Amino acid sequence: MDYPSNFIKTIIEEDIKNKKYETIVTRFPPEPNGFLHIGHARAIITNFELAKSFGGYTYLRYDDTNPSKEDEIYVKAIEQDIRWLGYEPKSIFYASNYFQIMFEKAILLIEKGLAYADFSTQEEISRSRGDLHLKGIASKYRSSLSIKENLEIFNKMKDGLYNEGEVVLRAKIDLESNNINMRDPVIYRIVKAIHHNTKDKWIIYPMYDFAHPLEDAIEGITHSLCSLEFEDHRPLYDWVVQNCEMKNEPRQIEFGRLTLENTVMSKRHLRTLVESKKVSGWDDPRMPTIAGLRRRGYTKEAIKEFVFSCGLSKVNGTISVEMLESAIRNDLSIKARRVNGIINPLKITITNYPDDQKEEFLVPYHPDDEALGSRIITFSKNLFIERNDFSEVIPDPKFKRLSLGLEVRLMHAYFIKAEKIIKDIKGNILEVLCTYDVETKSGSGFSKRKPNGTINFLSIDDAINLRTNIYSKLVTGEIKENVLDAFNENSLQIKYGYCEKSLLNFKSEDKFQFIRNGYYVIDSTSTKDLVTVNEIVQLKSSIK
Ligand code: ATP
Ligand code: MG
Repeated sequence: MDYPSNFIKTIIEEDIKNKKYETIVTRFPPEPNGFLHIGHARAIITNFELAKSFGGYTYLRYDDTNPSKEDEIYVKAIEQDIRWLGYEPKSIFYASNYFQIMFEKAILLIEKGLAYADFSTQEEISRSRGDLHLKGIASKYRSSLSIKENLEIFNKMKDGLYNEGEVVLRAKIDLESNNINMRDPVIYRIVKAIHHNTKDKWIIYPMYDFAHPLEDAIEGITHSLCSLEFEDHRPLYDWVVQNCEMKNEPRQIEFGRLTLENTVMSKRHLRTLVESKKVSGWDDPRMPTIAGLRRRGYTKEAIKEFVFSCGLSKVNGTISVEMLESAIRNDLSIKARRVNGIINPLKITITNYPDDQKEEFLVPYHPDDEALGSRIITFSKNLFIERNDFSEVIPDPKFKRLSLGLEVRLMHAYFIKAEKIIKDIKGNILEVLCTYDVETKSGSGFSKRKPNGTINFLSIDDAINLRTNIYSKLVTGEIKENVLDAFNENSLQIKYGYCEKSLLNFKSEDKFQFIRNGYYVIDSTSTKDLVTVNEIVQLKSSIK
């Protein structure tokens, strides 16, 4: 798969042509406060693929400037997910390793008269910064403190002589700016929490808008790619880089966020689902996280194909889940072995087949790819077919399955004809008695009659117990304040059926097709007595 062209690629091509940069350096900068999701996959793929296509490289940088929500567990998971997608960061950095430089840069701003301490409350500051209609108003600290006093206060902040919220450091830029981000943003605050990396070394922490451009510049990032919500922050980004006198001046370029239709993507909501135990963890197969998609059976190739096929737009876009589903179908249709599974079994007895006879057929795992090998399936008097493959009355003329008096082909075996239905006292169908025609054996070249379709089956003697986990959307309807109010209690359905013996040779995480049904993956909880599989996606023309 070649990385398709897009507007950022064009910008970088120009920059290279103009000899602005020799080596392209990008970074993926997650905050380790949750697992990565499919939206992050766009950011990862964009950063790594762009740098790669120009012979450059990409760093992974943990943007860990906010100690209260961050955790080592997320650091590990993020790394695992990036590697699973097939990317190896050139180096792994932590923003927190630059806290000393950032502190010194803040001092530089104070010395240049470009930063000041402010003892106003958080509400006062946010009110005084105005809004779209109202310009900002200067706080009384803006001009009343000397550079010396500001330096002293900032050092005392660092030494823990103030309480959280008592005082902050603000950049002195332009209270009249049309861009609210430029109206003297807070650049340092006091947080008395243990940081996952620097532990209790720091009491003051830089704000994202101050820290991020410095991190990029320190690492020599040439193109700082980020999602669209940072567009209005770009003037501040450039202001920080210039006024902190950074040698490198990275260029920030924004792209649209990728959102999946009807899918919870916000980390806050995902965390609530995990903490409430409504899902089994961040890697629950229903979660839109990379770890969840992996457990659900998605391949990295499918995720890449999906991200590539969405294109890279300058605007935020909502993509239908079908696009993601079609990417995994495309990938698995050529790679996955195909086997028989019966999710909702119906018993069939072949009345004219000898009681103690059993036939074996060697059949390929894939009709178009011999390299995927073959396995033995068996045929005998007692079979299972899918309940939906039988109908007492013919529902419509296009019905290509089994019904009384109709004949179908059992895939790889014989034609059978339904003769009689056996019901319980409530009228439920317990079993269908059929006859088979020995002349119609698959591969014999029989052509005197055409069957009314082909269905799949299992021989009861050889059927293995099967548990199928079937997933659907995590939430239904609109999410208001609390995601739990919209949680879909039916998002996991469990069905017990049967599968063919060959599945006992499949390993955990192996993906395969249940013929005429869908793609599945062997779950890590699967055993020989109960093969457990997760539904990845149904076939487009599923029998369900
Ligand atoms: P939060 O949900 O807490 O706002 P976030 O999704 O922005 O967090 P980060 O860890 O800050 O998470 O994101 C890392 C990078 O991934 C950022 O550069 C961000 O722009 C990008 N990113 C995050 N979500 C998406 C998305 N849906 N589509 C494209 N890029 C995204
Ligand atoms: Mg973010």
